Amino acid sequence: MSESHAKYGYLPDGHPDLFKDMPLKNPNPKIGLTELCPDCKGHGYRNLRLDAYGKGKHFQQLCWCHGWGYLAPGKCVHKHSKHVAVRGRCYNEYECLDCGKHYFIDSSD
Ligand SMILES: [Zn+2]
Ligand SMILES: [Zn+2]
Repeated sequence: MSESHAKYGYLPDGHPDLFKDMPLKNPNPKIGLTELCPDCKGHGYRNLRLDAYGKGKHFQQLCWCHGWGYLAPGKCVHKHSKHVAVRGRCYNEYECLDCGKHYFIDSSD
């Protein structure tokens, strides 16, 4: 990830403007999301390029916490995964390196 970030001029990890102009999300205890996501720190997204679409409109990337900003304690969120196979148009199979589960992502949005 960091390689492509440098290539496209995206903000690197730890940049002070990663969460600029981004509201903090609230935890969602109803569905068990109570632990602050360590990567986006409760924002759900990170800025890749500031002012990409005009002043204050930043190009953002969805965090691996799926934009919630919070995690369920003790539950695997498949942070470290590898691509297994393409199972159809824009339909990909991944294997989680943390818990070994296979899951699918439809990237046709
Ligand atoms: Zn996150
Ligand atoms: Zn997992």
